[in-house]
This record gives sequence, structure tokens and C-alpha cells, in this order.
Amino acid sequence: MQSTFNAIVARSDDAGYRVALEQLSRSELPDNEVLVKIDYSTLNYKDALAVTGASPICRRLPMVCGIDLAGIVVESKSSAWQSGDRVLVNGFGLSETEWGGYTQFQSVSSNYLVKIPEAFSAEQAMAIGTAGYTAMLCVHALQDHGLTPSHGPIVVTGASGGVGSVAISLLSTFGFEVVAVSGRESTHDYLRSLGASRILDRADLDAKAKPLEKEQWAGAVDSVGSRTLATLLARTNREGIVAACGLAGGVDLPSTVMPFILRGVTLRGIDSVMASLERRQRAWDDLARYLNMEQLQTVYKVEPMSDIPKLASDLLAGNLVGRIVVDVN
Ligand code: NDP
Repeated sequence: MQSTFNAIVARSDDAGYRVALEQLSRSELPDNEVLVKIDYSTLNYKDALAVTGASPICRRLPMVCGIDLAGIVVESKSSAWQSGDRVLVNGFGLSETEWGGYTQFQSVSSNYLVKIPEAFSAEQAMAIGTAGYTAMLCVHALQDHGLTPSHGPIVVTGASGGVGSVAISLLSTFGFEVVAVSGRESTHDYLRSLGASRILDRADLDAKAKPLEKEQWAGAVDSVGSRTLATLLARTNREGIVAACGLAGGVDLPSTVMPFILRGVTLRGIDSVMASLERRQRAWDDLARYLNMEQLQTVYKVEPMSDIPKLASDLLAGNLVGRIVVDVN
């Protein structure tokens, strides 16, 4: 291992909160059981908030940012992991309370690691990343509720983002009719190529909903929150389900109890960060089994770690499509 290596670090000093590419040494890394040589990380919505300082994501400073990592074990004090194992981490407080993946080496708790499925390279595992693994958790929530394609369409909001793109691809592979909701007309061809059969304008859902509206879909995957989530609930079929994972449109929920008490609609929260290892393993196993690899190739771009600050601003401005994989080397 080289004596120093690159990392994106958030600090706070007299000049305020700042995030920059720095050199770290081995002795500065936390003392966890497994040392990972990282190949790739990713840029998710939460990463963009942390890097730009738009939201106080890093609860401990200094903090190595990056909620995802994929690489190879180079040293292990845990019997569960050996040198040479291909591993990934999603969430578990990375970039919040635990040092994260925007670095060439990281010392990680053995309990956070998941084996990269044989089907994926480290680059592909990060093309999926937290966004794609969260999309799978959302699809599992719909399936566990008993939904099948015969129940009706599934609507996906924030459709051209990371969670939305992978959710559309997965749902169409499982045979569901998918309705995508997007604020950008330029993404329509991309969304159709992933399997969306209809596209609604974001503005159609981002208005004050009546307590109940005409039933339109059996289920929903929501990255947006706020008025959009309220509209989804008001238009979900009797006994349908909305899997809510995001807040790209706001953290509030201006809804009523009517969809719940008059139509038996379920609102299911999705938390990828502290999901159990069992749930994570099920998600990664099913991603390996069912994700359309040709579509995955069209969903991401690989970018250097030095470009993260600019890309983070682009993501929050809504100018990116799909996933960004970060090459930390
Ligand atoms: P992205 O930025 O990749 O995608 C978000 C998409 O939402 C955009 O591409 C855009 O799609 C749409 N959007 C952006 N701004 C707005 C707005 N103001 N109003 C309505 N729609 C908007 O983010 P991710 O896919 O990585 O994450 C999506 C959300 O899910 C985020 O809020 C993130 O924090 C959350 N998340 C939660 C997780 C959990 O564990 N609960 C895990 C992962 C993500 P379009 O242009 O097509 O409309």
C-alpha cells in the first residue's frame, strides 16, 4: 500500500464547511477490521448534498465522503473476510458517521461488507450502487405486498434519476406496465428504452391533490416526496402500495388519511442505510439474477474522483441522467 493516497474530505474550519481532494495516510484511517483497496464509488443524491454542503449529511468532521464503495480486501482481522475478497458497502452511515468511499483505501467494519455477486464487476456493482440497491428494495416491497403485473401499472417518480432508472428497468423485466414521471422531456427516449410504456409530466403530480382522485396504478416507487407523494397516494388503486424512498421534491407530505382508510392503501417507507444484511443480500442476489445487464450499461458514466464537486452541483441542479460511477484511482 502506498504511503499516501487520494480522498475527498469534508472539514469545517474558520472559513466554514469545505470539501476538497486531499492526501491521506494509512495512520489517519479509522481502526476497523477490514482494509479495502477501493476501485470505484458512486455519486448519489445524498453524496451531492454532502459534497456541496446543501444539507448537513456529515455528522462527524473531518469526514471522507461517499456512501458507497467497491473494491478488494487487502487486510482482514475478521475470519469472515480474506485478502482478495471482492466486496462492497452501501450506506451503514458511510459519509455520515463512518468514513466513506471517496478514497483509494478505507478501513471498514466487517459487518458492513457484502460480497460483490459473481455476475458483476466492481464497476457494475457501483453502477447499481445505493440507488440501484434501493430500487430493488422498493420492488421487493411491492412484490412482498403481493403485486403482480395483473394488478395494474406501477408508477415511478424521479424516473430519470438513479433510483428511478433502475426501478423502471427491474419492473419492466418483471413484466409490469411502467408509468414514468419525469420533469424533463429530453429523457423520454431514455425512459422508454428502459421499459417505460407511458410518461407523465412531473407537474401533473406536483400540484395539490384532492384527498382521493381517480385510481390509476396498483403501486408506486417514489423518489420525490411532498405533493408528488400525496398525489401518488390519492391515485393508488384499492389495496395498492406506495414505496417511498426519496425527498428530491421536499420532505413534507401534504396528504390526508383518506387513501388509507377508504381504499386500504399502504405507504411503505424504504430505508437502505440501516437495512439488515439479510435484506441487502436478498436485494443483491436478485439484482444479479434479474437486472438487465445491457440496460445497465446504458444507465451510467464513469467519472474521475477529482470531478465530484462539479458533478455534485450538476446532480442537485437536475442536469444528470442515470448513474455516476466514481473511479477513485
Ligand atoms: P437522482 O438525483 O439521481 O434522481 C432524482 C430525480 O428526481 C431526478 O433525476 C429528477 O428526475 C427528479 N427530481 C429532481 N428534483 C426534483 C424536484 N424538485 N421535484 C421533483 N422531481 C425532482 O437521485 P437518486 O435517484 O440517487 O435518489 C432519489 C431520491 O431517493 C433522493 O431524494 C435520495 O435522497 C433518495 N434515496 C433514498 C434512499 C433511502 O434509503 N431511503 C436511498 C437512495 C436514495 P426527472 O428529471 O426524471 O423528473
